[in-house]
Amino acid sequence: MLTHRTANISLLVMLAAVWLGHNLWPVLPWWVILFPVILYLAALVWGAVNIQSNFYIPALCAARTNEKVIAITFDDGPLLKHTPEILDILQQEQASAAFFCIGNRIGGNEALLRRIDAEGHVIGNHSFSHHFWFDMLGSGKMLAELKQMDDVVESVTAKRPRLFRPPYGVTNPDLAKAITKGGYTPIGWNIRSLDTVAKDKDQLLERIKKGIKPGAVLLLHDSMEVTVQALPLLLQHLKKEGYRIERIDKLLNIPAYA
Ligand SMILES: [Zn+2]
Repeated sequence: MLTHRTANISLLVMLAAVWLGHNLWPVLPWWVILFPVILYLAALVWGAVNIQSNFYIPALCAARTNEKVIAITFDDGPLLKHTPEILDILQQEQASAAFFCIGNRIGGNEALLRRIDAEGHVIGNHSFSHHFWFDMLGSGKMLAELKQMDDVVESVTAKRPRLFRPPYGVTNPDLAKAITKGGYTPIGWNIRSLDTVAKDKDQLLERIKKGIKPGAVLLLHDSMEVTVQALPLLLQHLKKEGYRIERIDKLLNIPAYA
């Protein structure tokens, strides 16, 4: 499996091979050395933007099962605009989900966070700020953000999240360090709905349907109108296909809180 460690080793092996080749066959132009470097940099970027690659840190992205069961997760709330509608739909269908919340969206929405918890959903950590440059913060500041988010959730629900979903799904060595130090369980997905850019609910539904398989983890956003529109149809579809919706901590058999 290609990981940060195996990529580092591969780079050294490739550079050694190029150096040896250059000595044995001096006509080899100097810029041949660029090939291993470009491959290596491409691997670093691929690993950073692809959480399922487990490149920097192993993230749980699905369950290994043959049972028709799926977990639904919502990122980026809680927001008055759509989170209550999502909760209403889930309640009607008696489905439990996970909400990876942003800490600085909880202030003023404490009642909403309490509702998420009281209705049997799990609250996960999606950082305090979800800052655009979050991945540049360095491990110390990242960990401080994660703890700040936990503190807010704990002050409202008396529960301390253990499940962490990286903002933008991006990972890097500093974040891997912060996750390990803080004792978090990194959570990814294996169905990226792309609901934040979906044209309409039909396009969104079609995309999700293609990814549905036993043990899947679906990524949605409770910040999107199109998600509210598609959710009842998705739940009907899952029922028709014989799928059960399981809360992510139960699907993956891991503790949700400290
Ligand atoms: Zn997010």
